[in-house]
Amino acid sequence: MHKKYQIHQYKKINLFQYDTEIDNIYMKLRFHCSNLNADQYKFNFVIDSKCSQCNKNKQETIHHYFMDCTKYNIQRLHLKNNISKLHNNFVKLTNKQLIQIIEGIRDIQISDIIYKNIYQYIKLYIVTTGRFIN
Ligand SMILES: [Zn+2]
Repeated sequence: MHKKYQIHQYKKINLFQYDTEIDNIYMKLRFHCSNLNADQYKFNFVIDSKCSQCNKNKQETIHHYFMDCTKYNIQRLHLKNNISKLHNNFVKLTNKQLIQIIEGIRDIQISDIIYKNIYQYIKLYIVTTGRFIN
């Protein structure tokens, strides 16, 4: 378990340590069956779909978690900065582009290697927000 990912590290977190767990969390997020309140609410696992991490009084959806939630402003800034450095198409990364990337919609001009790096940054976001792993 000595392998570390060659990406810019935020808070020196070794993603490899969490890899399978984060892959599972990310997959659940994409399929809208995650631990976010809006997903849990659909299955009657919680009584409120609102985000309890901030005071914006919004549903805790994948969009809210990645785009809006004020609790994760710093992590979001890192995510956007890191992705914007990977390809010219992402220099001025919009929220729409970002959510498309997160949901797995790919730009055909961009290589698998770049996407592999992007997904590492998304996973880093998931870890550093601490929303699913403490
Ligand atoms: Zn929130």
